[in-house]
Amino acid sequence: MTSFQDFGLADPISRALKEENYLTPTPIQAQTIPIALTGRDIVGIAQTGTGKTASFALPILHRLLQARTRPQPKHCRVLVLSPTRELSGQILDSFNAYGRHMRLTSALAIGGVPMGRQVRSVMQGVEVMVATPGRLLDLVQGNALKLNQVEYLVLDEADRMLDMGFINDIRKIIAKLPKTRQTLFFSATMPKDIADLAEQMLRDPARVAVTPVASTVDRIEQRVIQVDHSAKPALLAQLLKQEQVNRALIFTRTKHGADKVVKGLVKAGIPADAIHGNKSQNHRERVLAAFRSGQIRTLVATDIAARGIDVDGISHVVNFDLPNIPETYVHRIGRTARAGADGVAISLCAGPDEHSYLRDIERLIRITLPKEDRRTPGHRDTGPVPQQHRMGRGKPHHGHAGRPQHDAAPGAQGPRRRRKQAGHQGQHGQPNRHEPARPSQSGKGDGIQGVAFLRRDSRPARPNRNRNSQS
Ligand code: AMP
Repeated sequence: MTSFQDFGLADPISRALKEENYLTPTPIQAQTIPIALTGRDIVGIAQTGTGKTASFALPILHRLLQARTRPQPKHCRVLVLSPTRELSGQILDSFNAYGRHMRLTSALAIGGVPMGRQVRSVMQGVEVMVATPGRLLDLVQGNALKLNQVEYLVLDEADRMLDMGFINDIRKIIAKLPKTRQTLFFSATMPKDIADLAEQMLRDPARVAVTPVASTVDRIEQRVIQVDHSAKPALLAQLLKQEQVNRALIFTRTKHGADKVVKGLVKAGIPADAIHGNKSQNHRERVLAAFRSGQIRTLVATDIAARGIDVDGISHVVNFDLPNIPETYVHRIGRTARAGADGVAISLCAGPDEHSYLRDIERLIRITLPKEDRRTPGHRDTGPVPQQHRMGRGKPHHGHAGRPQHDAAPGAQGPRRRRKQAGHQGQHGQPNRHEPARPSQSGKGDGIQGVAFLRRDSRPARPNRNRNSQS
């Protein structure tokens, strides 16, 4: 088995890893680090929770140490782009942790906080800059930062960045970078639009991939409870009281929905708080810290806000609303059962829309989930999930004012909407844009190692293999 010693990482990094208690590289690290150390571009398929941050941070830090130069004022040597503020903060923390014995200089550029401090933090130049694309462009356009000396570029969660409408910002940023650089590109999925972007940005990349989505899913005890919409809040409170909850992450599709769930829980005597795009950065940080420390055990979040939350010990994920993009289900439940632990994922499924989402999810994960029926007999449940969210799949609802309230992100509505419609097409036998790219079977020099990809195909779902089957 590979060990961190085998990589020959510089001593200050090895020491930091020991202090972090990292003994064995994760599969993505074992695949990525040796190649990245050679300076080659990499395109990686890996999700958060697989250890991918270290897989790009460690080789970059090693290479920085090997050719240590002082960054020029207003310049950076490493640029990491990530979709959300939380994930960016966590990536920066990781760089600083692994680089703690090398006097690393680093800075964060994220939206939602005043620019002044960020401008000052790059004034002298930094080695590592971690940023969300919009704020980075603000800094560049305000002449606070120049990108012409970037030697290493990382794109993390590229699929999510595209989903959030960052594609134009990313293109503008790339245009300002030197052509000679090392680029490490990571995405949880590799539909065609992401593969095209990678193709444009990378030179002769090695391909690495880990964690077929389904195998992550296998470790999680998944249950579905069929329920009437109106009964969801009471059921959630009841579940949280019944279950042995260490930490629970509750997902809603909307920001408003998240706030409503929090109110309901607090009323039921369960301390809870929400993070979503309408909350201030301060609030988000405070709530996350409270969740991490165990001060609050129940956190309610929208998908975008939850993306990149790096909290271990989440025993339960509850889908208060089922997501209409099946991959989102996998991302959500992957917040539990991390670092080899087991986890429970409970989905509350109401009405015909959510039942149709559930079918898509089961097709994707190829598991028939155990279902418990708590619907009122004879009650015909057709709503009321906020109507503005009903535009991707199933029958579109018309005549409702208001834009979809996806979590705050520039241009979030457009691309996500297009993708959902594309997904809908896929159900009817058309090529589905969201289908992960198949790996090359040739194995000849394309650098793919140990690849296992999830297929979304029309094969029947596997019979339930969950431990606590209830159906
Ligand atoms: P990531 O996928 O980068 O968000 O990492 C997920 C979690 O795994 C983080 O808490 C890391 O600190 C932790 N981690 C990453 N690599 C290792 C490793 N080789 N050994 C132990 N923990 C790790």
